[in-house]
Amino acid sequence: MTTTPWHERSVVVTGGTRGIGRGIAELFARRGAAVLLTGRDAEAARAVATDLARSTGGRVAGAGVDVRDAHAVEAAVTAAERLHGHVDILCANAGIFPEKPLREMTAADIDEVLEVNLRGCMLTTRACLPAMERSGHGRIVLTSSITGPTTGYTGWSHYGASKAGQIGFLRGAALELAPAGITVNAVLPGNVRTEGLAELGEDYLRRMASSIPLGRLGETADIAHAVAFLASDEAAFITGQTLIVDGGQTVPESLDALATL
Ligand code: NAP
Repeated sequence: MTTTPWHERSVVVTGGTRGIGRGIAELFARRGAAVLLTGRDAEAARAVATDLARSTGGRVAGAGVDVRDAHAVEAAVTAAERLHGHVDILCANAGIFPEKPLREMTAADIDEVLEVNLRGCMLTTRACLPAMERSGHGRIVLTSSITGPTTGYTGWSHYGASKAGQIGFLRGAALELAPAGITVNAVLPGNVRTEGLAELGEDYLRRMASSIPLGRLGETADIAHAVAFLASDEAAFITGQTLIVDGGQTVPESLDALATL
């Protein structure tokens, strides 16, 4: 197998201003790939890009993009292609996880979560296709979640629906894009220490850590390495698949099984 060095790859990471997305952008930059990271706030995105360029010595640019806005998403991909010459890898990672019990959930709550998490990742994937076809190389990695595809959690039924929806989307997209050699896969993180997760409170973090067989929350680098594998040349024969990265959280079949550790 011939492999292309990372410094010849160009990556777009949505939701790259913090948390898992920032970890993904950092790993690709460290490996030498050119990175465009996005978040809703253009200034914040550019500031994070400058930080990462400095700390990794890599090529990192930032752009303000709301993934709900189809035109903004297309403009960002065009900008990445103009800046870096091509776009080969998309990490569709932007997402939100507001907690809301079903009985209190408004139509607007449902729309917001589905629009950002599901429709946003579909729009971003679609926007990257022309550039990937021009580049002759395409790897799309979605950040889904264990919540929805694998597990359920009270207060997050809309979130679970959006994350399970991403998996339905990726299977159809993987088939449609296979003839072009573009792969579509997803990572399913468990509980990962990010700014977004921290907003759920220390008590939540403690309870989650105690339900993980490997005995700790995930770090953003744990997810980034799984993403980088699915985005690599070595993963050329993997498409339409999901990779759980959760420290074993979804493995115990009962609280008893967990208690024996
Ligand atoms: P986070 O710390 O809250 O970061 C979320 C990122 O998404 C930020 O960069 C944010 O940037 C961006 N974002 C939010 N809304 C956006 C929008 N409408 N348009 C564009 N960008 C937007 O979250 P995280 O914990 O890193 O989670 C990242 C992804 O991993 C999400 O898809 C989440 O569902 C998934 N995930 C996380 C965990 C976990 O334990 N942390 C577990 C499973 C799955 P701005 O605010 O600047 O727009």
